[in-house]
Amino acid sequence: MEGLVFTLFFILGIILGSFFNVVGLRMPQNISSVHGHSSCPSCKKQLQWYELIPILSYVFQRGKCTHCHYSLSPIYPFIEFTTGCLFTYSYVHIGLTPTLLPTLLLISFLMIVVVTDITYMIIPNKLLLFFLPLFVCIRIIYPLEPFYDAVLGAVVGFLLIALIIIISRGGMGAGDMKLFGVIGIMLGLQYVLLSFFIAVCVGGLIGAYLLIGKKKERKSQVPFGPFLVLGTMISYFYGDVLITLYVSFMM
Ligand SMILES: [Zn+2]
Repeated sequence: MEGLVFTLFFILGIILGSFFNVVGLRMPQNISSVHGHSSCPSCKKQLQWYELIPILSYVFQRGKCTHCHYSLSPIYPFIEFTTGCLFTYSYVHIGLTPTLLPTLLLISFLMIVVVTDITYMIIPNKLLLFFLPLFVCIRIIYPLEPFYDAVLGAVVGFLLIALIIIISRGGMGAGDMKLFGVIGIMLGLQYVLLSFFIAVCVGGLIGAYLLIGKKKERKSQVPFGPFLVLGTMISYFYGDVLITLYVSFMM
């Protein structure tokens, strides 16, 4: 029985993950995500039903369009698989409790952010404005302790990135700033600081690796959104463990 529920959450995750790819690819171009068939980004050939099966279609087509052999971005199967894993993990970690739905909503938001930020280096206002009221409602129904922690998290998240933008003169964008403000509502003050710390550490390591490997010029931009997303997920699920560890380490 348990195995069946795991599988259902995984399948739900990969199907929605596939939808998040479509939303993330179309929203910045102002194309409807609900209408219109999916097509190859290069030759525009409409995809057949079997080319729309999450993950499997990518594997069987060996990552290429069957018509023009255009290499499809590995971001699509990555998002599908990651969403499947995160949905399953949420169920394992949280169980069928009232906070499961807010968690799945947060994951959905973050996955679309990864798609738009990696593909276009932007986080659309439309996306932020769609999830902002949802997260505010969630924090009214399920307040953090103390209740104003969500406001603190949002303000500090926003200001932290604003500070980085001023210091680094554009190392991060206004999109990251607004994103982290929205994330702050869900995380609260402590976890927002923790996720920022994780994002900067991981982002710094990968940035250094790319610079040393000469894979990127110093001036070329690496989207920072995915690192904020990673930090958010880690502190959302493991924040209490990490902070307890940190405190016991400092004592
Ligand atoms: Zn094609």
